[in-house]
Amino acid sequence: MPTILSHPAVAIGLRRWLGVDARTAIAGALLTILPDADVIGFRFGVPYGSTFGHRGFTHSLTFALLASLAVTRRPRALAFLLICAASHGLLDAMTDGGLGVAFFSPFVKTRYFLPWRPIRVSPIGAASLARMLPVLRSELAWVWAPMLALAVIAPILRRSPRV
Ligand SMILES: [Zn+2]
Repeated sequence: MPTILSHPAVAIGLRRWLGVDARTAIAGALLTILPDADVIGFRFGVPYGSTFGHRGFTHSLTFALLASLAVTRRPRALAFLLICAASHGLLDAMTDGGLGVAFFSPFVKTRYFLPWRPIRVSPIGAASLARMLPVLRSELAWVWAPMLALAVIAPILRRSPRV
């Protein structure tokens, strides 16, 4: 996984572009990190590769939809929340470690990575600063930089005439 610091960048990047209010943006930021609540399973002996293991059901598109619907039914806000929640698994699938992501859980147990995996995987639990620096550097380059750029150009994108 990227660190918990990076997933909310998606909500920041998309907020102005999709034009959602602050409360929805905060909900979206929370939904970007909610999937990693599954790490609690390690304490209870849930195997990593099981349906409810790390990067299992909580990282699926089904979970993203259910979590988003639990928050709102307003179409624009729902789209924003769905993208935020689903982005978590997408970013995890772009990392260079761990098991893949069960995007289609609980229907398909196969775990996937994207063919392009530039993000360094974050260690689970405490890690030294020396081990974290390359992780944070890759997250700055591949998550924060594009999301902040999107936040900056969002007003221009919103003003562009629709075809
Ligand atoms: Zn994750």
